[in-house]
Parts: sequence; C-alpha cells; structure tokens
Amino acid sequence: MKVSTYASHSALQILKGAKEEGFETVAFGKARVKPLYTKYFPVADYFIEGSYPEEELLSLDAVVIPTGSFVAHLGVELVEKMRVPYYGNKEVLRWESDRTLERRWLERAKLRLPRVYEDPDDIDGPVIVKPHGAKGGKGYFLAKSPEDFWEKAKRLGIRDKDSLGGIQIQEYVLGVPVYPHYFYSKLNHELELMSIDRRYESNVDAIGRIPAEEQLDLGLSTNYTVIGNIPIVLRESLLMDVIEAGERVVEAAEELMGGLWGPFCLEGVFTEELEFVVFEISARIVAGTNPFVHGSPYSWLRYDYPVSTGRRIAMELRQAEDEERLDEILT
Ligand code: AMP
Ligand code: AMP
Repeated sequence: MKVSTYASHSALQILKGAKEEGFETVAFGKARVKPLYTKYFPVADYFIEGSYPEEELLSLDAVVIPTGSFVAHLGVELVEKMRVPYYGNKEVLRWESDRTLERRWLERAKLRLPRVYEDPDDIDGPVIVKPHGAKGGKGYFLAKSPEDFWEKAKRLGIRDKDSLGGIQIQEYVLGVPVYPHYFYSKLNHELELMSIDRRYESNVDAIGRIPAEEQLDLGLSTNYTVIGNIPIVLRESLLMDVIEAGERVVEAAEELMGGLWGPFCLEGVFTEELEFVVFEISARIVAGTNPFVHGSPYSWLRYDYPVSTGRRIAMELRQAEDEERLDEILT
C-alpha cells in the first residue's frame, strides 16, 4: 500500500508523515509543482500529472488522503464515485457542503453557533452576510441594520425578499479566531487534540494597519483570503471546552452519518466571555496543521516523538494494516 494525495494544501506534511511511518508515497497534480514534492522537499516517491489519475493510482496500490484541495478540484460528486480507496467517511461530504445540513450536525453536537436571521428585517445587531456558494469570504459583507443590509445587498442584485437567493445572514460574533485540529481514531475509539492555528488572511489582517479614518476614506471592505497559518496555544483552562466540543461532534456524526474519523477541524472564535462559537467544520485535514510538521505542543504532550497530523494518519493506516482492519477506515 502507498499513501497518495493531491499536490497542494497539506501534501508535504501528509507525505512526510507517511514516509516516517515507512510507506512509499505518491503525489499527483500540476506538472509545475513536481519539483516542490520531489526536489526541494523530497517527500514523494512518485509524481503523477493530473487532478486525479485513477488508473495509475489503482495500479500503484495507493490510498488517497483527502484534503481541501483534492475535494475542491474534483468536486463532491466525483469524490463519492472514486474507486481508489479513500481515507475517511464519504457520507460526511454532503453534510459538510450544505449549510443547512452542516448546521443541523453542529446543533446536534450542542455547539454554540452564530444566530441565523431568516428575514433581513429582523437584523438587530451586527451581521455577516454570506452569498450562496461563496468561498473564503469573497462577496461577504457586514451590516448593522435592515436599512444597511438592503443598501449593501443592491451590489449583489438583491432588491427584495424574493431575490435573496440562498444567502445566509449570520450574527457577527466578535472574538479571536481559533481553529483546533482533532484526530479521531476509529480503531482505538479515541479523540486526540493535535494542534491549533489561526489563519493569516488578506485583507482582514491588513486593515488594522491603516488608521480608521483612512479606512473610511478608502471605502475598504473585508476579505478573508487565506495566505498562511499561525500556531496558537490556548489558555489551558479553555482546553476542556475545545476537547468536549470535538467529542460531541464525533458523537453527533455517529448518530447522523455513520461516523467521522481521521482529522477534522472546528473553525470559530473565542469571545470575551470565553465562549467558543463555531462557524464551520472541516471534516478532513486542514492546512492549519502545516506549522506542525515536527509535531505541536499538544502532540508532544501525548507522544514522545514528533507527530504531525500527517504522520498520525499514517500511524492509523499502519495499525489498520497490522490488525487487518483497513476496511473499517477506507471507503
Ligand atoms: P489551494 O490548493 O491552495 O488552492 O487550496 C484549496 C482550498 O484549501 C482553498 O479553499 C483554500 O482556501 C484552502 N486552503 C489552502 N491552503 C490553506 C491554508 N494554509 N489555510 C487554510 N485554508 C487553506
Ligand atoms: P467562512 O467562509 O465561513 O469560513 O468565513 C470566512 C471568515 O469570515 C472566517 O474565517 C471568519 O474570520 C469570518 N466569519 C465567518 N462567519 C463569521 C461570524 N458569524 N462572525 C464573525 N466572523 C465570521
């Protein structure tokens, strides 16, 4: 068995971790990035051009570790149909990609979520407006009242309640962003806290460098395009909150969709009342684990050797292979 993934996102870490556990590795993707994975960072034993070279992967006896890039490039429907063994539960993809289902899942897990306004005329505090299908904050805008909403929504061609077209209006939660990374071992029935990051986003993380008056003059609006990730360790008294949230998400997934296993991440903010408010779940490895190629403070507390999330995935594959339980974790 070889470990493969799409050449972007967290592939360096995944393939490095797989090599550390003694697997041969395969990267596939755009020709231009081949040197990144074979020369500058020699983590891939094989590099195949293409967004999903199914026949080659099958003949190499590869398993695919899904990442945000892999799913984005292939699309949920193709991922559901792929024949190369996939690490994780594919049922989760539907729940995650539909805002209504995702919310049902997170509500079942009793997480604190931002309030959602069905009717713009009910807006009674700061809100963030997310157009349907918008990604990475593109097209999001902030509003503070129904009047403000209708004025700004004109830009999107929204003039009345009939033309809302699947936008979501969420309470804007003021707090600091915290993205805990978990790993749930299906083999051992155990949740692990792997690491925590915050994102470094353009332009929100740049706006604070400009005085407020000039921000107004320039008519700036916020965008959330990810540029990189910054490690965080959390105030220790908040760790149980984060761990319990992860445990409840796994339990809810068992009730709703046959389980969630492997790496996942809750994306949210901590408010000044010390409440963890969650916007979103990513049900696979997130790129925020990348600062921790050599392990994190949390993985170091559990293991006496460096364990990244990528390596933890490979450890699970190794254990499953040894115990002849691969069918329990591959789909
Ligand atoms: P890419 O392969 O870099 O185009 O990324 C594919 C998807 O993963 C996009 O939706 C990105 O927003 C997300 N992504 C990529 N890198 C990161 C990162 N370092 N942190 C958070 N999200 C990321
Ligand atoms: P999303 O596309 O949901 O990942 O959101 C992109 C970014 O917008 C997040 O990383 C947050 O910084 C911010 N954000 C999203 N939803 C909210 C919210 N309800 N309150 C405050 N900030 C939010």
